[in-house]
Amino acid sequence: MSAMRRVTVLGSTGSIGCSTLDVIARHPDRYAVHGLSAYSRMDKLAEQALASRAAVVVVPDTAARTAFQQAWPSGVTPPEIRVGVQALADTAAESGTDSVMAAIVGAAGLPAALAAARAGKRVLLANKEALVAAGSVFMRAVRENGAELLPIDSEHNAIFQCLPHGGRAGAPSAPAPGVRRLILTASGGPFRLRRWQDLADITPDEACAHPNWSMGRKISVDSATMVNKGLEVIEAHWLFAMPPERIEVLVHPQSVVHSMVEYADGSVLAQLGQPDMRTPIAYGLGFPARLESGVSPLDLASRGRLDFEAAEPGRYPCLDLAFQALRAGQGACIAFNAANEVAVAAFLAGRLRYTAIAECIESALSWQAGQASATLDSLESVLALDQAVREQASRAEAVS
Ligand code: NAD
Ligand code: MG
Repeated sequence: MSAMRRVTVLGSTGSIGCSTLDVIARHPDRYAVHGLSAYSRMDKLAEQALASRAAVVVVPDTAARTAFQQAWPSGVTPPEIRVGVQALADTAAESGTDSVMAAIVGAAGLPAALAAARAGKRVLLANKEALVAAGSVFMRAVRENGAELLPIDSEHNAIFQCLPHGGRAGAPSAPAPGVRRLILTASGGPFRLRRWQDLADITPDEACAHPNWSMGRKISVDSATMVNKGLEVIEAHWLFAMPPERIEVLVHPQSVVHSMVEYADGSVLAQLGQPDMRTPIAYGLGFPARLESGVSPLDLASRGRLDFEAAEPGRYPCLDLAFQALRAGQGACIAFNAANEVAVAAFLAGRLRYTAIAECIESALSWQAGQASATLDSLESVLALDQAVREQASRAEAVS
């Protein structure tokens, strides 16, 4: 076995972050923690840093630094505490780390994930919003700097496992030879059997009660609205260089088949497993080796059956809007994501109706279509449009 890998976990206190630390702790001979970061819950961050013996933690501001210091036990040497957005990107790029788990939620995670790619790290990408906002910039950074890109989102991890990759995880510039289509499975979320127009009074807690997965609140709402599947279609487009018309969504309520690849000869390869993110996380950490992840074996006999149904156009308005954005181009994808982030935050805060999330995205897409088209080939240009959409969407939300 090669040398010890030093891992940095961005967003360590979240659902993906905690699962990542769980897998790492099972392999103390192979993985050590270099850096951890969190935006809130400094007591949790301190507990994680203590248990994993992290060398560095990154916190958002000086108030968080004080809270971290207060949570740290006396008599134990603390990790180095760094503050702010630039420190986050620097920590993801520094020589003390070789694998970076990008598990911050939202486009806020983009600068640090991109910094890791530019520094040629192994990037374990959970933060799908980063790729949706900056697909071309991010994939170019991976390609030009010899970074490794391992998709952690379960669908993309499944597809990656079903594609030929020769033990190398890079950034393809054309679809893999012989592949006809990618088939992304979707559970359909908690409201699969209800019509969108009947969902106006859904509360945040109802939207966050996902039938199969336990996740952060933002992605849980995204799963209910199917925005999540829309983000994943855009993510698949970038990760696998696949045109939109060769990406299909298939509803599969049990979340056992995590996605599939259809080949020209009619073969369909699928990856199956428990709905537990420790499987794709362990795959990304160990690639190409397979690691024990703590996930219990899949018992298909006791599951009995697996169901599939078409995701018909018109059934899930947010999924249709994502395909529309992907066909329209990168500016529209930025608008789709940023408007959704604003709308979901407002919905979770009790300020916006559930079904208004789709309206907010739709109006951001029309607004963006009316703007002069900008060249989106740098981090700065992506963040400028992202910010402009957020301002526009926040104003629209405030008057709705
Ligand atoms: P979460 O809300 O549980 O955790 C988010 C983490 O990011 C926390 O550590 C938080 O402190 C940090 N954070 C939040 N806002 C931040 C900011 N502005 N700046 C810096 N740090 C910030 O989220 P999660 O469910 O773990 O999801 C993380 C990412 O992984 C998301 O992009 C999500 O779409 C993706 N993902 C999650 C799952 C899952 O099962 N949870 C599955 C697939 C993909
Ligand atoms: Mg997913």
